[in-house]
Amino acid sequence: MNWEGERVVVIGAARQGTALARYLAEHGAEVILTDSRPEEQLNQAREELAHLPITWVLGEHPMKLLDGATLICPSGGVPLTIPLVHETSRVGIPLSNDSQIFMQAVPCPVIGITGSAGKTTTTTLVGRMAEKAAEAGLYRKAYVGGNIGFPLISQVEEMTAKDIAVVEFSSFQLDLMTTSPKVAAVLNITPNHLDRHGSMDAYVNAKRHILAHQGPEDAAVLGYEDARAWELAQEAEGLLYAFGRDIPYGLPGTFVWNDQVWVRTDAGDEAVMPVSEISLRGEHNLLNVLAACAIAAASGWPVEIMRAGVKAFSGVEHRLEFVRTWGGADWYNDSKATSPGMSITAMQAFEEPLVILAGGRDKDLPWDGFATQVQAQADHVILFGEAAEKIRAALEQVKQQNDRTYSLDICPGLDEAVKTAAGLARPGDVVLLAPGGTSFDEFNDFEARGRRFKQLVNQLPEKE
Ligand code: ADP
Repeated sequence: MNWEGERVVVIGAARQGTALARYLAEHGAEVILTDSRPEEQLNQAREELAHLPITWVLGEHPMKLLDGATLICPSGGVPLTIPLVHETSRVGIPLSNDSQIFMQAVPCPVIGITGSAGKTTTTTLVGRMAEKAAEAGLYRKAYVGGNIGFPLISQVEEMTAKDIAVVEFSSFQLDLMTTSPKVAAVLNITPNHLDRHGSMDAYVNAKRHILAHQGPEDAAVLGYEDARAWELAQEAEGLLYAFGRDIPYGLPGTFVWNDQVWVRTDAGDEAVMPVSEISLRGEHNLLNVLAACAIAAASGWPVEIMRAGVKAFSGVEHRLEFVRTWGGADWYNDSKATSPGMSITAMQAFEEPLVILAGGRDKDLPWDGFATQVQAQADHVILFGEAAEKIRAALEQVKQQNDRTYSLDICPGLDEAVKTAAGLARPGDVVLLAPGGTSFDEFNDFEARGRRFKQLVNQLPEKE
């Protein structure tokens, strides 16, 4: 695409927006970068792009930005309901985003991964496999990025036809997509981000874009255990792969049989590895491994590559991340668990006696499921942050109908919660930070919360 003479408004100057603005400016477009944040919060981005002819409009998104504009690119975090975007659609200026422009420019095959949960884990794992495939000579180089934190638009220039790109797509990015990747995976679709998409239909529709523009040579990989993801099978134009603990006989994909992960292709069934050799904890991570192996099969990679990828992968930071053994107990950081449901998933990954640290900021979600899981499993519960009282009330409700007991402590913040946990943990326990709330009452994001937790745990004094 020739960008000379195009006047592009990029909305949002975070990672995606600045990477896109840089790419467009370097390719001759006239770029206007607008962010609702004031100038003083964007100094770093401004410095990084200072050498490029970009017009900055900060603190507001005035309608006059649309005058003469030929394309408008909202970043992932920008609601499509803001007046500027609304007006864009009304006056008929096309919308795009960094992912769509990447897909138009990329010279190599792309593996795209989306879903409501497990995107980053699965993308990172497929990325490991892609690196192994490149080491084996199947590709020149493997690129891994997208919504995961590195917008690949910033590397598209150096990519060649002999490479492979593994890309995580959010539903926000997919909303505007008119190009689908060669291998498209939808892991699962559960209600999420409905605040932005407006309805479940709109959310499913956004996810659908990942395979809607595929051709007969392409492949779709769908979660068989998830009804909404699997429904998309009807729309697959190309080859179809299923993944799940059990998939229908005759369907290509991955499944578990006899305690092994298996892959089925035209060439027949082949064992990938024993489930016991997967170092990631939790049934959800077994599904992520099955998904990654099915994606690998759809990409034509042999089982040795799948196995090597899984073995080289010890998980993603802040997702059931092992921190250390202290006081004989294993401490885990699952700061990414920002809803009660994710906290339940985390607890279910353990069979050991459990000390659970939960809290943060409530997203106005019910905590009764969390309370039921705690009642069934935990020996000690330590609540912290804004949501502590709300969670305590939910725990009390469930406790009244139950005999099993556990201790309950309430702490103002994470620091005190870790201290309390250190006093309670016994050898053989698992101490798990799986807050269930967001981090914003105490931290900038879940990463900062997870890092602080690890720092506190790593600084615990050795026991006498
Ligand atoms: P995403 O990138 O989609 O947010 P992550 O890989 O970062 O997903 O995982 C985030 C959390 O989602 C995990 O800590 C876990 O609680 C939950 N999760 C991960 N994979 C799955 C899955 N396959 N099914 C259900 N929940 C999952």
